[in-house]
Amino acid sequence: MSNHRTDWIQDEINKLKEAGLFNTIRTIDSPMDAWVKIDGRSLLNFCANNYLGLANHPRLRAAAQKAVDDYGVGPGAVRTIAGTMSLHIALENRLAAFKKADACISFQSGFTANLATIPALVGKGDVIFSDELNHASIIDGSRLSRAQIVRYAHNDVDDLRRQIEATTEYGRRLIVTDGVFSMDGDIAPLDKITDVANEYDIMLMVDDAHGEGVLGTGGRGIVDHFGLHGRVDVEVGTLSKAFGVVGGLVAGKQIIIDWLRQRGRPFLFSSAMTVPDVAACLEAVNILEESTDQVDRLWSNAAFFKKEMKNLGFDTGHSQTPIVPVVLGEAPLAQQFSRRLFDEGVFAMAIGFPTVPQGKARIRVMNSAAHSQSDLETALAAFERVGRNLGVI
Ligand SMILES: *Cc1c(COP(=O)(O)O)cnc(C)c1O
Repeated sequence: MSNHRTDWIQDEINKLKEAGLFNTIRTIDSPMDAWVKIDGRSLLNFCANNYLGLANHPRLRAAAQKAVDDYGVGPGAVRTIAGTMSLHIALENRLAAFKKADACISFQSGFTANLATIPALVGKGDVIFSDELNHASIIDGSRLSRAQIVRYAHNDVDDLRRQIEATTEYGRRLIVTDGVFSMDGDIAPLDKITDVANEYDIMLMVDDAHGEGVLGTGGRGIVDHFGLHGRVDVEVGTLSKAFGVVGGLVAGKQIIIDWLRQRGRPFLFSSAMTVPDVAACLEAVNILEESTDQVDRLWSNAAFFKKEMKNLGFDTGHSQTPIVPVVLGEAPLAQQFSRRLFDEGVFAMAIGFPTVPQGKARIRVMNSAAHSQSDLETALAAFERVGRNLGVI
C-alpha cells in the first residue's frame, strides 16, 4: 500500500519539530503525587493540576476499590439508554450541595461538559461573547453550536459592553468566560461580568476548571469566591484537576441541568464516567466538606513559593491563584530552563508561543497541597541554581 497519501503528516510533524513545538511526553512510572518517577529517577512534580494532592489520596483509592467491588467498572452505555447508576446521581446531588447550586450534571470530562453545554444553549442565529483567552474546549463548543462568536479583550468588561452594544442582530445571547486563566493564573472579574449579563439580560456561563477545589470557601469555586450564588446561570467545572480524578460537571439552574439531560450531546451519545472515577470523586467531596485543610495548605504553599521566587528576582507575573508563571522570555530559554530543572530533579513544564504570547515563554509552576515545606525549599534551591546559571537572576 502506498504511504504517499499520508506523507503530509510527516511534513507537518517536521515543521512542528523545526519550530520547537513538537510535544514530547514524559512517561510517569508512579502515582501522580508530589514526587513522580520518570526514567527511573524520582522528581519533584510541579506539572500536575493535582492542586489538593487527591490524585493518589488513600481515601480516594479505597473508595474507588470498594465501588469496583460493589458496582464493577463500567457504566454499560449512555445513561439515557442503559439507565443511570445511583452512584452518578449521588455524586451530582453532592456536588450541587457542595457548590450551593440548584442542580448538577456530570460528564466524562470538563472538555465534554463544554461541548455539551454551549450548543445546548445557543445555535445558529445566536451570539456568544467570549473572552479572547478562553480555553480550547470553550472555543470548540462555541464552534459546534454554530452561533456567531464575538471575542472581547481579555478580562475587559468595558470591551465586553462595547461588543454587546455593537452586536445588534441576534437571537439568544451567551457570555462565556474561563474562571481562572491557566497560563497567568488570573481570575475573571465575574462580579462585574454578572452585572453586565443582568443589565443586558444575557445568559452567563463560567468555566471554572482551575477554580474548582481551589477558589471560594473550601474550594467551592469562583461563584462562591465572588458570592454570586444563583446569579450565574451555568458553571462548568472539572473533576480532573483539584478533584484529582477525571470527569466534568455542570452546576447551575435546575432548568438548564434538566435541559442538558435532554440536549447535551456528550450526555446523550457518550457513556458516563466510570464507577471508580465517580466513587473517588464522591470521596473527594467528603474530604472537602470535612475540612478546608487541603485548600488552605495549597494556598499557603503557593504564597510561600511566590514570595521566595520574587525575593530571588524572578518575574512571577500577576497570578491571583496557586498557578505561578515564571516568565523567562523566549521559548528556547524556557525549554533550556526546564531541561536544567529536570537534571536537578524538578519536573516543571516550559510553555511558549503560541500558547502564551511571543517573548513571554515561561516555566509554569503548579503548586499543590501535596508538597511539603522541604519539597518547596528543594525546588526553590533548584530554581535559584538554574536561574543564576542561565543568567536569568
Ligand atoms: C482543563 C480545562 C478543561 C478540560 O478539563 P478536562 O476535565 O481535563 O477535560 C476545560 N476548561 C478549562 C478552562 C480547563 O482549564
